[in-house]
Amino acid sequence: MIVAIDGPAGSGKSTVAHAVAERRQLTYLDTGAMYRSVTLRCLREGVDLADEKAVAAVAAAARIEFSAGEKGQTVLLDGQDVTADIRTPEVDRNVSVVSAVPAVREVMVALQRAVADSGDVVAEGRDIGTVVFPSAEVKVFLTASDEARAHRRAVQREGGDAAKDASATADAAEEQQILDDIRRRDKLDSSRAESPLRAADDAHRIDSSDLTLDQVIDQVLALVDAAREGKAAEAKPEAEAVAKPADEAAAKPEAEAAAKPAKKERVSAAKAKPGEGHMRAFAGNSFEDYYDHGMRDYPLPARALLACVVCLVGAVTKILWPWKFEQGELMWEESRGRVLVMNHVSMLEPVVVVCSLWFHGQRVRPIYKSEFDKAGIVTWLFSRVGGIPIQRGSADLKAVRRAQRALQRGEVVLIYPEGTRIKTDEKAPIHGGFALIAQMGKAPVQPSAVVGARDITRPGRFFKKLGRVFLKVGPCIEFSELGVKGRKQQAQKMEQVAMDRVWELRDELRRDHPGKM
Ligand code: C5P
Repeated sequence: MIVAIDGPAGSGKSTVAHAVAERRQLTYLDTGAMYRSVTLRCLREGVDLADEKAVAAVAAAARIEFSAGEKGQTVLLDGQDVTADIRTPEVDRNVSVVSAVPAVREVMVALQRAVADSGDVVAEGRDIGTVVFPSAEVKVFLTASDEARAHRRAVQREGGDAAKDASATADAAEEQQILDDIRRRDKLDSSRAESPLRAADDAHRIDSSDLTLDQVIDQVLALVDAAREGKAAEAKPEAEAVAKPADEAAAKPEAEAAAKPAKKERVSAAKAKPGEGHMRAFAGNSFEDYYDHGMRDYPLPARALLACVVCLVGAVTKILWPWKFEQGELMWEESRGRVLVMNHVSMLEPVVVVCSLWFHGQRVRPIYKSEFDKAGIVTWLFSRVGGIPIQRGSADLKAVRRAQRALQRGEVVLIYPEGTRIKTDEKAPIHGGFALIAQMGKAPVQPSAVVGARDITRPGRFFKKLGRVFLKVGPCIEFSELGVKGRKQQAQKMEQVAMDRVWELRDELRRDHPGKM
C-alpha cells in the first residue's frame, strides 16, 4: 500500500505521515529531506545553485539514507548524520531552487520509487500523489493557512510543539521571517515547471488550520483503514462481482467511496457528493443514500414506514413501560441541530427518544455500532429510521462526516458515549467522538439521562418486566461556555462536562424516583 501525503511547507505533513506510518506499520518516507540533503551538499561544496548541471551532479553522487534513530528518523548524507543540518534557515531558503532542477527530481523520484518497491510506505512531499506515486491507494493533500504554518514552524524552531500546546508562542520577528519564507517557498514550489506543488485530482483535502494534530492523524488513519478494507473486499471474488456497479463511487476522491462495497444494496445511487441530489422516489436507494441524505429527503415509503414504526412502537412502549420526560421542553423546543448524549442501559431509551422527538417534529439520527449490521434486516430497518453506523475502535471518518452533515441540516444526532448498555454504576470508558462531531457540525451538546429502563431487563429471561421509565433532559452545552481555548482542549472539556451532566441528571432522577435504576 502507498499513502501519499502532499502539501505546502509547515502544513504538518511530516508529523502526520510519521504518526500514520508508526500506527499502521508502514515505512515513512520524507522526500523533502532528500531534496534538503542535496541542497546541503551543494551549499557545503559551494556549488553555484544556478548551475543546473553542477547541482544535478551533486544529486546523482549523493548517498541519501534513512535510519530509525532514538529521536525518530535519522537522515544520513554520505554516511553522515545530517538530520539537524538540513533544517537550517539557509537550507530552507535554497531548497526550492535545487528541487526545481528537473535532473535532480529525476534522481530523487527514482530513489523514492525504489523505497516503495520494497514494501508499504507513507511518503510525504509535494508531488507524491501527482508524479511519484500517481496510483497511490490513499492520497491526502494537507493544507493550513500561511499564518498557522508559520506559527507551527516558529514554535518548532524554539523547541516547542504548537500542535500539542495551543498556547505556545514564538519570537514575533522570527515568526514573520518564517511566514515570508514560507510564502516565497510556496510560490516557487507551486509555480515551477517540473512537478509543481499541486493536489492530485483524486486527493483527499484536509485543512489543518483549525484541527488538532490528533484529528488530522485520525482522518488520515481512517482513509488508510478504509482503503485497506476496500482492498480486502476487492480480493474476494463474490464481493468483486457485486462491487462492479460501484465503480463510479470508487472513483470518487474520498477514500470513503472505496470502503465496503460488499453488500448489494450498498451500491450508491447518489450521483454527486454524499447527500446531494435526490433520492429515488420509491425503491432503488442504497443504504449509503439513507445515511447520507437528510431524513426529510427520504422517499415516501420510507417516511411512511418510519411514521408507522414510531406510532406503533411509541404506543406499545408507552403502555408497557409508561415513559415520561422531565424538562422535555428543553429538547422539544430546541430547533437547532445538536448532539444528544445519554446514559445507556437498554434498547428502550433510543426507541423512546426517537419516538418522542419525531412526535415533536424533529428528526433523529441514532449513531449505532456497525456490528449490528451483521444482520441484513437490521441494516435495512436502521437505515430507514435514520440510523448511521459507526465502526468503533477506529476513526470512522465516514460516519463522522455523515453526523456532521446531519447536524448542519438541523437533525439531532443521538449518541450513547458509554457504547454498550451499562448494567452497573461503574463509570464506563467514554467514546469521546461525540464532542468532535459536535465541534465539526458547529453544534452544541445536549445531555440527557434515563432511569428505570435497566430494571425492565431480567437476566436470562426473554420477556421484560413492566415498570415506569423516567427521562430527563438538560439545557444544551455550548463550546463557547466551556472557558477553554483551542479545539482539542474544548473537545476534551466538552466530553467531560457533558458526561458529568448526564450522570448528574441520572442521579437527580434516581433521587426523585427512589428505587429506579
Ligand atoms: O517538506 P519540506 O519542507 O522538508 O520540503 C523541502 C523542499 O523540498 C520543498 O520546499 C520543495 O521545494 C522540495 N520538495 C519537492 N518535492 C517533494 C518534497 C520536497 O520539491 N516531493
